[in-house]
Amino acid sequence: MEVATGTIEQIIKAMAAEIGFDLVGIAPAQKSANEDYLRQWLASGQAGNMAWMHKHIDKLLDVRELLPGARSVICVGLNYLYPLEEEPGEPSGRIARYALGDDYHEVMKKMLHALADFLREQIPGAQTKCGVDSTPILERELAASAGIGWIGKNTCIIHPRMGSWMFLGEVITTAQLQPDRPIDNYCGSCRRCLDACPTGALTSAYNLDARKCISYLTIEHRENLTPQQQRMIGDWLVGCDICQEVCPFNRKAPKSRVQEFRPRFPSGRLTLVQVLEMDDETYRSIFRRSAVRRVKLPMLQANARAVQANRQK
Ligand code: SF4
Ligand code: SF4
Repeated sequence: MEVATGTIEQIIKAMAAEIGFDLVGIAPAQKSANEDYLRQWLASGQAGNMAWMHKHIDKLLDVRELLPGARSVICVGLNYLYPLEEEPGEPSGRIARYALGDDYHEVMKKMLHALADFLREQIPGAQTKCGVDSTPILERELAASAGIGWIGKNTCIIHPRMGSWMFLGEVITTAQLQPDRPIDNYCGSCRRCLDACPTGALTSAYNLDARKCISYLTIEHRENLTPQQQRMIGDWLVGCDICQEVCPFNRKAPKSRVQEFRPRFPSGRLTLVQVLEMDDETYRSIFRRSAVRRVKLPMLQANARAVQANRQK
């Protein structure tokens, strides 16, 4: 790889682009500006049974709890959008776009480690720690602070040209880097996401009640769904994309350049028969190295039974 010239920030950003990230920006490593909001959100129970958020609140509120002495956070965005093909004729359920290709944790980790290695070569003595989704980090707040995009009313990070179909990742570092500026919020008077959410999970602009969100109900909720929750998931087997699909900034979002994110299920759907008749071995082979593995087979089949019941209403 050719090393760019310029300031250290320009050199790091050029390397991030070379590695394949679509967006990169730098945020200062500091205490969250949204501590009161997060504490109230957790206290009101809107995190549902995501106990890890309560457990790791200190880390969530300050990345320096993850890497003592951290001064900067390099935030990156990686586009995962692939167009979908026509749905199958048979009854089927939907899988959110982010879970259609290879597990992004693995893909992102490799790329982030390459960036962190490069940074340590450039700045001897600097320490780094990489974060992607499963690390307790307020990724969206950091990404917004780094100018990657603004936090939309649907709570996603949105870039004016790239839209919101992107994974976020971070390289936290003890190196002192010049931070970028946040960009403007262009949601304006739009409220398409709020109106389109079928469950009312977006209780107001910028506030998501996870307990009502289909993504949470189909992936994170570890207990049996109540009949009401079963109705809420509609035709989703894993996750939900509705509040992103309706966002005008996603209308012209570019296609991903990452081959690993190419959908294994080109229509973004699995037939219900396929899921309901799946055994452990088939599950393991179909979802090998897939983010869908987060949803174990019994849960996936319970979701499929709910989708089937919803079709019959
Ligand atoms: S992911 Fe689906 S259920 Fe959750 S807030 Fe968005 S539209 Fe609503
Ligand atoms: S749909 Fe409209 S209000 Fe919602 S995030 Fe997109 S631009 Fe903002």
